[in-house]
Amino acid sequence: MRKKIIFWCLICSVAMMASMLTAYSHSKEDFAGGPGLIGMLVITTAALLIYYLKLDSGAELVPAAMKIKEQKKKGEDTTKSVTFKDVAGLDEVKEELSEVIDFIKNVEKYKKMGAKIPKGVLFHGPPGTGKTLMASAIAGESNSHFVYASGSEFVEKYVGVGASRIREVFEKAKKNSPAVVFIDEIDAIGSIRNADNNSEKDQTLNQLLVEMDGFNTNDNIVIVGATNRIDMLDPALLRPGRFDRHMFIGNPNVRAREEILKVHTRNKPLGEDVDISSIARKTHGVSGAHLASIANEAAILAVRKNKTKITNEEFCQAIERVLIGLQLKNTSVMEKEKRVVAYHEAGHALIGRILKNSPVEKISIVPRGQAMGYVLNSTDEDRYLHTRDELYNKICTLLGGRAAEEIVFREITTGAKDDLGKANEIAQQMVCELGMSDLGNRVYKCHQNGETKPMVEREIKRIIDMSYKKTKDIILDNSELLEKIASELFHKETLTGKELEAICNF
Ligand code: ATP
Repeated sequence: MRKKIIFWCLICSVAMMASMLTAYSHSKEDFAGGPGLIGMLVITTAALLIYYLKLDSGAELVPAAMKIKEQKKKGEDTTKSVTFKDVAGLDEVKEELSEVIDFIKNVEKYKKMGAKIPKGVLFHGPPGTGKTLMASAIAGESNSHFVYASGSEFVEKYVGVGASRIREVFEKAKKNSPAVVFIDEIDAIGSIRNADNNSEKDQTLNQLLVEMDGFNTNDNIVIVGATNRIDMLDPALLRPGRFDRHMFIGNPNVRAREEILKVHTRNKPLGEDVDISSIARKTHGVSGAHLASIANEAAILAVRKNKTKITNEEFCQAIERVLIGLQLKNTSVMEKEKRVVAYHEAGHALIGRILKNSPVEKISIVPRGQAMGYVLNSTDEDRYLHTRDELYNKICTLLGGRAAEEIVFREITTGAKDDLGKANEIAQQMVCELGMSDLGNRVYKCHQNGETKPMVEREIKRIIDMSYKKTKDIILDNSELLEKIASELFHKETLTGKELEAICNF
């Protein structure tokens, strides 16, 4: 519509300019202000022409709501394009993708062999692990255009709108081939179709399938999809010839965390006391996005403190800020509550130490985010397998806070809400998914009502009750140590892992 209006304004402006020029050339005396008016019309026409050409260049092809990022093509400024160097870790994914990149770069070589370009690559895994980053690195490495679209942007109320947006994205990619089309949150349009059909969603998915089938090796386009829920995707999307290459991108291990931190600190001035590998050990279980945020927070904190370099202190604060939340200023925690929190956290630390869970990095009773206190753990190695005993020990450590409260104050508080949720989740997994309970090597559908549900519930309760009893016994046997840790914590408010060890070994 806008294009049409500009087009007709342009025509009118040209027509007016032509008629003025004719009138001026016929009688210059009668047309005294002619040159000025003609000049203005020339400027207006030129402005309209430039605007029209800009619209025509395709900037409006895809609706404004849709974010499309394009990387520079070969020969142009590629300094901003993302390459594998910007993606830390994920070596196996990079290796797997190198074939796809080679295909895009040397399409003729593969055509001669009669090989077809792999059409779709699907990244799946938890949020913030670098799926988008990896997709744009494919474009960067292969010097192709990067066309970004998010699945949720295709979800429309009106039938056919989503499908037409899909068409536009693919037209754009074909126009700019070689191209990498990245569809983030693909589950928003590609979830399993069922009986209560939603015709708009189905049409959008059908259009995506049609487009994927429609392009061939000559188009030199690769589609990369990303989802956190691969189990929700329609089988039609996953069949060979569509998204047939599935790559899991999970949270980084300790080595990858170190590499990610190096990538995100490479342009930052670091103090001599900053030890990237120790930061990596303290950030077990976090995503690449968290690590990027920690590096950035540390830099902001250093600026706030007018420092010229980022020191270890800023990194420690940034970790707590990102993982636990903002340190609350001017909180007036009642003396009694502070005491309860001190015993609660001391309970966690004591049980964790005795049962040899992950080493404690720090214990604090300074409120942060929604937590009144917390225990930060570190780890030297990433574990992929856990024994049954280790899971029991984890449950005991989680219950350590509540058990300490009950023993010391003969009263329990709401402070154990999160701990109970986590402990119950582990127990539920042990019963329903891992075959690690007295119900044997069976799996159960925990969330569905059925005749096994009461039995499953009883077993979860048994695990929790048994662990709680063990936790209380340990605390009763070590009540003096609990007392020492809690009172140190109460006075100092924060204890490091080393200080905790010193108290325990005294
Ligand atoms: P979502 O599933 O929520 O869309 P995602 O997996 O697509 O998340 P990205 O958007 O790629 O995650 O990553 C977010 C940010 O985290 C990146 O911009 C980058 O700064 C950082 N990041 C994540 N993984 C890595 C990595 N492997 N190397 C370097 N930076 C990373």
